[in-house]
Amino acid sequence: MTSAAVEPVTPHARRSWRPKHVLVTRSAAELPHGREIVARCEAAGVEDIQLLAGDRLPGLRGESERETYARAKLTLAVVVAPPSALRPQPIPPSADWRLDLAKGCPAHCQYCYLAGSLSGPPITRVYANLDDVLAPIAGLAGQGTVTTGDAERADEGTTFELSCYTDPLGLEAVTGSLSSAIASVGRGEHGPGVGLRFTTKFDGVAPLVGLPHDGRTRVRMSVNSAAVARRFEGGTASVAARLAALRALADDGYPVGLTIAPLMPLPGWQEEYATLLHDVAATLDGVPQLDLTVELITHRFTEASRAVLLQWYPQTKLDLDEGGRTVKRTKFGARKYVYPTPVMREMRSWFEHEVSATLPQARVLYWT
Ligand code: SF4
Repeated sequence: MTSAAVEPVTPHARRSWRPKHVLVTRSAAELPHGREIVARCEAAGVEDIQLLAGDRLPGLRGESERETYARAKLTLAVVVAPPSALRPQPIPPSADWRLDLAKGCPAHCQYCYLAGSLSGPPITRVYANLDDVLAPIAGLAGQGTVTTGDAERADEGTTFELSCYTDPLGLEAVTGSLSSAIASVGRGEHGPGVGLRFTTKFDGVAPLVGLPHDGRTRVRMSVNSAAVARRFEGGTASVAARLAALRALADDGYPVGLTIAPLMPLPGWQEEYATLLHDVAATLDGVPQLDLTVELITHRFTEASRAVLLQWYPQTKLDLDEGGRTVKRTKFGARKYVYPTPVMREMRSWFEHEVSATLPQARVLYWT
């Protein structure tokens, strides 16, 4: 690889991401959705689009970790999802199942949970075999242990979470995958009793407004206090822009939500989160038949994610001190570091009270 200049990370990017480099595998280029992605990238003005002779992606390692990171974050790979990626996995407490339209995200959040779950340079891979990705939905209707088995969330049907490994709205302008998924579920092409959900830190919702969604996709905006957003969420839309986008979706009849995450008890956190909740209330005021949910997720990290994040963001001010945390085990046996019980208790009780006082129409789905 030639020596790439390290490009500055802007605090808040334009509303839709445009990759600088696009790599298209041979198999992906043969599929209609793969060709559509290439056409969208061309229309967006991407100049470096390489059609590869085979299905292997070239190495992206630069001369330094910083260079590898910078180049990978500017690169979109259009690939065919392997069979292992086409088997939906349970994903409590968010949804019954996980579906991946893509893996990787072009934003630069210094706490990014993908650091612990994806390996190698943080390139974004989007799947050209979209029909294969969506195909399992119909067969899983009525199966699951999160919304399917829960009387309070039964109206959501069997749910499929699209944002476990990516921010699907961030990629939408150059992929169109999210709109296709929302419209096909809304038109009932995958049968009755199923729903999609995703969370995002982008605001380019224009392609979603007016789709035949049939209320079957819940869009949540991932939001945070001013201090967290300002310090740690590079390359995303501003929180104000995210809330304006949420209003546009709510006006279009989408069920909507907030993912307030990762919660951090930074100095002045009560005032800052109170301001956020009031801003949400003001933004959504007057939406007819508002269907609003809230998910509350505290900051945590694993040894693996900590190591990767410190490589990606060596100057970060993020609290990654294991000494100030309590250790818990993930379902895969790895250690995760969460806030100590008294801190968790104080935050939980504050949020439960403030959310119900400021957003009385909202349902809190879970705290973790
Ligand atoms: S928007 Fe989400 S997936 Fe993307 S970098 Fe930020 S935390 Fe990670």
